[in-house]
Amino acid sequence: MFRSFFFLVKLWVFTSLIFGKDIYQSIRLYDPSPSNISIVASQGIPLDHIGGKRGVYIDLTCTKNQTTYLLSKGLILDILVSDLTSFYKERSRPAISRNFPLGSMQGNYTWDELNNRFDELLNLYSNIISERLVIGQSVEGRDIWAFKISDNPNVDEDEPEVLYTSLIHAREPLSMMNLFYFAQKLAEGYNSDEEFTYLVNNREMWFVPVVNPDGYVFNEQIEPFGGGMHRKNRRNTNCGNGTTRGVDLNRNFGFGWGANNTGSSPDPCSDIYRGESAFSEPETQAIRNFILDHEFKNVLHYHSFWNVYIHAFGDGSYPNEPDLTTHSEIGHEMAKHNGFFVGTGLDAIGYTVNGDAVDWTYGEQGLISYVPEVGSYSQGFWPSEDEVEQLCIDQFHPNKIFSFVAGSDIIVHSYEISEEFLLPGTEANIEILIQNRGLTNSGGDIEISFTPLNNWIYFDNEPFIMSEIDARESDDVALTFFVSENATPGTSSGMIINLNSGNSFARNDTIEFFIGEPQIISIDNFENGLDDWDVNGDWGLSSDVFDGLHALSDSPDGDYQDGQETFAEYIREVDFQFVSNPIIKFNAKWDIEASYDFVRFQALITDSGWVSLSGQYTETGSGQPAQAFGEHGYDGLQEDWVEETIYLDHLDGLQITGFRFIQTSDNFVEGDGFSLDNFQILGYPSGLMGDFNSDSGVDIFDILGLADLLLFGATPSQAQLFFCDFDSNGMLDVMDLLRLSNVILGL
Ligand SMILES: [Zn+2]
Repeated sequence: MFRSFFFLVKLWVFTSLIFGKDIYQSIRLYDPSPSNISIVASQGIPLDHIGGKRGVYIDLTCTKNQTTYLLSKGLILDILVSDLTSFYKERSRPAISRNFPLGSMQGNYTWDELNNRFDELLNLYSNIISERLVIGQSVEGRDIWAFKISDNPNVDEDEPEVLYTSLIHAREPLSMMNLFYFAQKLAEGYNSDEEFTYLVNNREMWFVPVVNPDGYVFNEQIEPFGGGMHRKNRRNTNCGNGTTRGVDLNRNFGFGWGANNTGSSPDPCSDIYRGESAFSEPETQAIRNFILDHEFKNVLHYHSFWNVYIHAFGDGSYPNEPDLTTHSEIGHEMAKHNGFFVGTGLDAIGYTVNGDAVDWTYGEQGLISYVPEVGSYSQGFWPSEDEVEQLCIDQFHPNKIFSFVAGSDIIVHSYEISEEFLLPGTEANIEILIQNRGLTNSGGDIEISFTPLNNWIYFDNEPFIMSEIDARESDDVALTFFVSENATPGTSSGMIINLNSGNSFARNDTIEFFIGEPQIISIDNFENGLDDWDVNGDWGLSSDVFDGLHALSDSPDGDYQDGQETFAEYIREVDFQFVSNPIIKFNAKWDIEASYDFVRFQALITDSGWVSLSGQYTETGSGQPAQAFGEHGYDGLQEDWVEETIYLDHLDGLQITGFRFIQTSDNFVEGDGFSLDNFQILGYPSGLMGDFNSDSGVDIFDILGLADLLLFGATPSQAQLFFCDFDSNGMLDVMDLLRLSNVILGL
């Protein structure tokens, strides 16, 4: 017993001496002023892969010694996680689903496993996956290899080329895992999924899964089950054998190399050591030469974590137009489902870098390029095993879009309809902007054909021929259509637009709209108080109004409070049995801490509970404590009143029984809050308002019927109540009789 204990101690001392295991921590540094940031940078603490609140605090990963140093300099900080490696290992939960085979390092493949995994895929799909192409050797002599997915994979064809690289930073395994996931799904879907088949047949998709094999293998040696914190390559920089050894490959590229000592460090033992000269390292040389040898249109240099797509430039300046718009549009399309932030590192949190791969790829080679950072700050470098597959799935759409845009990619960009309401028996014009969002010119004419969604609209459906569109350009097409006289208001209709051109994926886009003019079912302008609302917290009437004297606000007397959840619930009975395609409209303005605090508008749905609804002005939740990830809500600054519209037709068939606004906030930064006015429920009633006797007309007989009912105090049917309760007070009375008379008299 005594001996084996002694042996363990000896073994521990031995591994510490060999590897110099540093303890890494997660810390929260308050007051990130430029002078404090320069103290952080002087310690070589990386300012990428961070979290925080601009101007309030930043969350950093550093060693225990660095934390001690920052404290000795009088910086104010909290230690969030005192030992990240132990934290990552202890919190990991095994994955249950195995649609996608995982590896043994908290779900991530080891170096051997990823090599075997590649061999398996190559064996199964050698018709579309190339052999390994060795593009260089690491400092320790390991192969840096690439592979290609395309038809005729071992032939260089004349097809748009796109590149994905990963694991340039050794402790970021999700950068690599998501590429294996993407490769597997592409291969499995080839010849069954139209999009994948098109991509494989018409693109050359290149992958370099491990740019930094030595660093990755080192992490495997010090933490065989995941959690290793080494970042750099394994160049001997005279800092011992631990994690301080090596060059930060993502500071070693030749654009703006060594521009200052904040974005990279001259200290060989720093985590952001830039090396002796630009491209001093064989790993960065391999990537440089590989890019120079090919005709890539666009490149993703994958990292993890931060939930962002960062584009050039590392010093915070922007690419010139039109490239800035290109980066923004393609980035936002990639972020469509995962809500990632798109912009420069300085935009995101206020950090700068130099000598990084994206700056060189765009700044020197002119290729559209991003750093995708997979995962959130709380997931960190080594997320729990049961989160690995979902993180890979979250990058699937972005990876697919990125391949499409390497070529020509013709889409419906936007459209405008000439009439506000499409009334039965009238005609209207639709103008559609067709864009080539891709980075290659389209080849030959584009045939645009239109098909009505149903018989409620009709038009001359001769296809329209548009001449070719250059990369990133657009052109418009107009169509006149007729609305059938027989269409009932509230019916949905629309058209399918088919876009066909020589070298683009043939896309079908659907434009949908409603026929008729929606009717107001109820309206609350808050002039009669809050009878229809159940509120808590500070929600109440405000004199800062869109019109009238009163509006509803989450904090009528100044800023909202921190660390709270409050709501205003609409308590009038909501009944859509006589209404199709209901719509909610309200006027609103807000000042809510962007990405951190939130106001959501929700519907209460039977069997589902409260569901957040999306409108024209909602954003996607960031995943911060007060912004549920992926939910729709309002944040940022909207100074002027806007009219928000929320369509509920996608909830058709579900029973909606209530609505509410819910406000959530975290600590440190607050805003003036959220105000709304003129809360309206609209829709297309299945009958006529005022048609008491349901005979499809509104006339004197409806007045007589209603008067009779009032005289005898009888109970109205639900339909009578719905169609004749003009003042929306939940009952039929003499006021409704008066309003009905006015309707008939046309007053
Ligand atoms: Zn990284």
